[in-house]
Amino acid sequence: MMSVNSHSAGAWLSIDLDAICDNWRLLKSLVASGNCAAVVKADAYGLGARPVADALYRAGCRHFFVAHLGEGIALRSGLAPDAVVYVMHGIPPGAEPECLAHGLVPVLNSCQQIAAWRELACDRGEILAAVVQVDSGMARLGLSDAELQQLSQDASAFQGIKVSHVMSHLACADDPWHPANRSQLARFEAARRLLPTAAATLANSSGIFLGADYHFDLARPGAALYGVAPVPGQPNPMKAVVRLQAKVIQTRTVLAGEGVGYSFSWIAPTDSRIATVSVGYADGYLRSLSGRGSAWLGDQELPLVGRVSMDTITVDVSALLEHAVQPGMLLDLIAPQHTVDAVAQQAGTIGYEMLTALGKRYHRRYLQAGETHPV
Ligand SMILES: *Cc1c(COP(=O)(O)O)cnc(C)c1O
Repeated sequence: MMSVNSHSAGAWLSIDLDAICDNWRLLKSLVASGNCAAVVKADAYGLGARPVADALYRAGCRHFFVAHLGEGIALRSGLAPDAVVYVMHGIPPGAEPECLAHGLVPVLNSCQQIAAWRELACDRGEILAAVVQVDSGMARLGLSDAELQQLSQDASAFQGIKVSHVMSHLACADDPWHPANRSQLARFEAARRLLPTAAATLANSSGIFLGADYHFDLARPGAALYGVAPVPGQPNPMKAVVRLQAKVIQTRTVLAGEGVGYSFSWIAPTDSRIATVSVGYADGYLRSLSGRGSAWLGDQELPLVGRVSMDTITVDVSALLEHAVQPGMLLDLIAPQHTVDAVAQQAGTIGYEMLTALGKRYHRRYLQAGETHPV
């Protein structure tokens, strides 16, 4: 692990744990059942599964979803026994004893995964908990209609398995008018009737905003916890969580007609002052922001010029007074008023990818108990 403190790091990433908890409380208050999990896969969307889950546990969250078995093992070890960690990809063949030994609840996605879990239950003479996922139309994970039929005709299919929840995932929840939402809902309800009686979980962040029909017994938001807008194009009710600031390393004057950065993709139209800033695509500051992104000093927007390099970007600071920008100063790249969604849009992607791309070289600060983002 490299050593990154506030002096040695090129850029700072501040993560507001209070805002994540406030977002979780807001989502929980919107969910009809009042039960709200937290999806903390991919290291809590790049923000740090351990500190995020610990903070959410303190806020009252008891259900945590990860994607991989390995993520589950890492998360489970630090959480109190009354927290439940669900592994959405289920169990790789042969790893069932490991899943059990670590006290994880698998999401079983196929007849094969169900059979392997059932066999372990029989071998142990124990009842083992599981979630069963059905494919209600996304065609990614979960039991197909044919598998559901097959299972519903086999009285011993779930012997030794206590199904805590039946689960599915929505493909188009971010578009409230998409007809797939209703059709997935209908298929989900039909599938439940073919499975052991259990609680149900369907809604991701956007699904919560489709209304109470989609809430069932447990909601599973991820992105909205981290400040991403759950309904694109609508005012974002979530609190901003992330602030990314990068250090100015050097400033220079570039004369009209001179090129800046790789391939000279930007040629100074007039004499310009350029600041070189210590963040690049190796830090998840996406290369597609070349010539399109912005940095900010307070409210002053400063356009990125030229290519995003591996470790640096170049910013036109001509709009500021000559000595306003000095080496060591921090410029904002993502901030509460310059949101992750807006930056993602400039990069031609979504907030989810922007967050999960955020790199490991940052000086990371976790704010809690009323701390505010540094100014
Ligand atoms: C990632 C994921 C979620 C969370 O989705 P968000 O859109 O981030 O709220 C919920 N359920 C499943 C199955 C997922 O893969």
